[in-house]
Amino acid sequence: MPKCTLHHVRMDKIKQEYIREICFDISKEIILPKYKNLKDHDIKYKNGTDLVTSVDIAAEKELEKQLLKIIPNSNFVGEEAYSENKNILNLYNDNNYCWTVDPIDGTTNFVKGKDKFAIMIALTYKNKILYSWIYKPLIDEMCYAIYDQGTFIENKKILTKTVSNFNQAIGSISTKYWEDNYLDQLKILKNNFAEVRSYGCIGFEYIDIALGKRNFAILSKLSPWDHIPGILIVREAGGADFDFNKQSYNFTLRNKNLIVGNSEQFNLKILHKLGEYS
Ligand SMILES: [Mg+2]
Repeated sequence: MPKCTLHHVRMDKIKQEYIREICFDISKEIILPKYKNLKDHDIKYKNGTDLVTSVDIAAEKELEKQLLKIIPNSNFVGEEAYSENKNILNLYNDNNYCWTVDPIDGTTNFVKGKDKFAIMIALTYKNKILYSWIYKPLIDEMCYAIYDQGTFIENKKILTKTVSNFNQAIGSISTKYWEDNYLDQLKILKNNFAEVRSYGCIGFEYIDIALGKRNFAILSKLSPWDHIPGILIVREAGGADFDFNKQSYNFTLRNKNLIVGNSEQFNLKILHKLGEYS
């Protein structure tokens, strides 16, 4: 297991190598040995529809153990812990640092042996996102963001690039959890873009939006572990996010929808266009 045994690290002193080592070790020892090697008993359904594997659960337990060593007595919200206890979301209201973890983003891809899955981690204090990390186990690549300092892939700063027209834009639109009126509007909106396709791994989409390789994601059902890490990565790369009422993503308020894109201007264009169909 990871050898990271740091104690009492000051908040402004979190070293990228610590988190990288944790992700590398968990990938090597827990995640990758089961890639294309899952047995039937490793796979279950939670809430009737969402896949979960023994790997998601084991990776999250180890992430919790290792991250709490970095900031002792900090809070921890994990995707799999939430499925056991919905009340853990109240931890965000505490006057304390809180880790948010998605041990495997893209579990369905992982189960199918596809290549897009990631470990996602964020560190917040109250409603402020301080740090976030998205790690790609298969290529051992870390993308991270630090509040007010930027977004980096392997220590190289990245910035969004924006396109001016919808017919050059590539992105995704969630297909589930919409109220009926929005679903109809979004179906029409979709036709404006060059390509609308989901990766089945929102972490990879957030990174590609931060790189300007993709241009937007229009999202519903905003579970904190799916979005806190990517939101900071996009914001710090120059991108923007707000919901259909122009409110920025705030995981403690739980927005019902969200537009994430390369720039505020581009997101406003999407919102404006959506309004034309109402
Ligand atoms: Mg997951």
